[in-house]
Amino acid sequence: MSVPIDALIQKMPPELRFESPVYVTRPNLPTLEEYASCLAPAWERHWLTNDGCLHEALERQLAEYLGTPYLRLFCNGTIALLTALQALELEPGNVITTPFSFPATVNVLHWHRLRPVFCDIEPESHNLDPAHLQALIGPDTRAILPVHVYGRPCKVEAIQDIAGQHGLPVVYDAAHAIGVRYKGKSLLCQGDMSMVSFHATKLFTTAEGGALIMNSETLYDRIRLLKNFGIADEDTVIAPGINGKMNELQAALGLARINTVNDEIQQRRRIARLYHDGLGKTPGIALPPLHIPDVESNFAYFPVRVEARMFGMDRNTLCSILRYFNVFARKYFYPLCSSYAWCRVAKGALPVAESAAENALCLPIFGKLPFAWVQQICAIINEAGSIVRSGCNNSHA
Ligand SMILES: *Cc1c(COP(=O)(O)O)cnc(C)c1O
Repeated sequence: MSVPIDALIQKMPPELRFESPVYVTRPNLPTLEEYASCLAPAWERHWLTNDGCLHEALERQLAEYLGTPYLRLFCNGTIALLTALQALELEPGNVITTPFSFPATVNVLHWHRLRPVFCDIEPESHNLDPAHLQALIGPDTRAILPVHVYGRPCKVEAIQDIAGQHGLPVVYDAAHAIGVRYKGKSLLCQGDMSMVSFHATKLFTTAEGGALIMNSETLYDRIRLLKNFGIADEDTVIAPGINGKMNELQAALGLARINTVNDEIQQRRRIARLYHDGLGKTPGIALPPLHIPDVESNFAYFPVRVEARMFGMDRNTLCSILRYFNVFARKYFYPLCSSYAWCRVAKGALPVAESAAENALCLPIFGKLPFAWVQQICAIINEAGSIVRSGCNNSHA
């Protein structure tokens, strides 16, 4: 379906254009003064990394917030995931994962010379579909690596049942899932290990950063070793570790913001509701649910599905129009991980994921996004849709 974008834009009210770019997210930053006061203890000690006092404080506060005894901080989420796989000491073989994710998920498998086997996703949650999981398990399967996409919980019980039957470890890419609770507990406590990211685009940020949450003291001890080169003490190196340490400058930023996570989520919930008010009746724009049973969501993303036939134009066209109006919505997750050259998956093999990747569009959402801006974004989408449906596109009708 092709729509003449220039002609369409001509018919839209020019005042809908934002003067400066509105990005899909914006980090929840402290003031510089707040940051400096959080950083001060490290400055006074001249201590920048390696188990500093800020690192220790953030690790403790995060573990408390999530309700887990076992949490280790990392320099970023990708190295955390890489280290989680190293800790499992998997034999060469396959890991079952999802194609609908950020490149890090599948690329860490490649760095371990593990082969990704892609499981198609559920149309509603966009998460790995446990109904396909059983059939993909074979003698070479070594682990399962699901992703809680957009912070929405996977079917964790079904995945755990299947993993348990086959004695397979489960590592969750929970990069998006800070603050999500499932059946009253942090979602990050699922599986053998979960990785959460604190990248600048995530709901809670340390600029770059991340953490692993694990379910046993053995893994907790092992990860501590592996994230610091495998150094046991001054004279002993006992494992092939890496440098995965979070530094004090990162930890200070985390400490300045850890107490605002719940407020940030509250504010995002209000924005999600406003999007529902503005787009709830728009033909061909399917909205993410405001409430999922058993789940306290974090509203990390606001992914809509563009049904081209009903809306009047496809996702890519809508994305271009929004960009003209200075709104930088993002096509999370396009392209699919399974489409990367090094994954060698034929097109058509993962129909649900392929359709999701063609139609998903994440609209801006962050705590300080002004309500008037949300209404303006909805107006751009509604104007564009109604103009195109009323005949601007009649050459293709
Ligand atoms: C952000 C992200 C990562 C990577 O985290 P970094 O902290 O940026 O290394 C991994 N997986 C998913 C799904 C992500 O969105």
